Amino acid sequence: LYDEKLNDRHAFQSRRAIKLDDAIDTGTLDYWFQPTMSLETGQIIGLETLVRWVHPVDGVIAPDDFLPMVKELGLMGALDLLSMTAALTEKRNLNHAGFGDIGIAFNASPELLSHPDFIRRLVWGVEAAGIEREQVTIEVLETTNFGDASETQSHAAIIRDLHDGGFQVHLDDFGIGFAGLSHLAKLDVTGVKIDRGLVTNLLSDAISGKIMRKIVELSNDLALNVIAEGVEDQATATALAGMGCGVIQGYWLSRPLPRDDLLDWLHDRQRQQRPKRA
Ligand code: C2E
Ligand code: CA
Ligand code: CA
Repeated sequence: LYDEKLNDRHAFQSRRAIKLDDAIDTGTLDYWFQPTMSLETGQIIGLETLVRWVHPVDGVIAPDDFLPMVKELGLMGALDLLSMTAALTEKRNLNHAGFGDIGIAFNASPELLSHPDFIRRLVWGVEAAGIEREQVTIEVLETTNFGDASETQSHAAIIRDLHDGGFQVHLDDFGIGFAGLSHLAKLDVTGVKIDRGLVTNLLSDAISGKIMRKIVELSNDLALNVIAEGVEDQATATALAGMGCGVIQGYWLSRPLPRDDLLDWLHDRQRQQRPKRA
């Protein structure tokens, strides 16, 4: 019985792997966009590009359920190049729709950072679409192995090149790894995105609240952008505003939006006139 179950599981996994390989090959993944808002002005200032796999039978699959397989297949770099292209395409659409002030962000795996075509394709993409580089944010996980910036191929050197090239680079899931603070000293990033775990516990757990306050204070001192992700209620948004946190993202503002709903959502908000305030 055990063997049979294991066999079934293997068969299921390899069927999925083939379909996934195919979806990446043919570029038929889908992209959803989650807004970020300035706590100071109430304006929408950015959108994060989040990949979804629309499986022919199982429907929409979230990244946590298929990115591990993408990694195993050695296709993370290829997938991230597609996400980057989707991000730039959406940014061009936003510009055409009168939302030129809204920036775009995408997630960059270590595999993307080391991909030989990454920076060339990024620069080509922004030039071709007439996008301002400072409106493009690359989110890099705090847990990435950055290496030494003096080695030209290291991830630290690539981040410096991106920053020197005029792009924004944010450290994602910040505040849960051990290396966070030393990364701030060594890496040429323009901002931090504080991990959902810390944000969620902000009001219920005194330690999380204290860590959060210090991270926000330090980031402000270092003139870094600071974004809190995973904000699910007004009380958390208000507490963050009180700490001096500049930007929030989370279900309280909006869940990730399918591309087809995005412009309607932005227009609706614009029509509401009174921006949502913490
Ligand atoms: P992430 O970069 O931390 O993205 C934020 C995740 O938190 C998203 O999940 C989003 O739906 C979820 N989220 C946002 N607000 C809230 C909230 O208020 N409460 C809760 N509980 N969750 C919230 P999603 O879309 O499932 O993405 C999961 C992770 O997958 C992302 O985490 C990111 O690390 C990765 N990912 C997504 N798209 C890509 C991609 O194109 N490339 C790479 N390399 N990674 C990606
Ligand atoms: Ca992210
Ligand atoms: Ca994150």
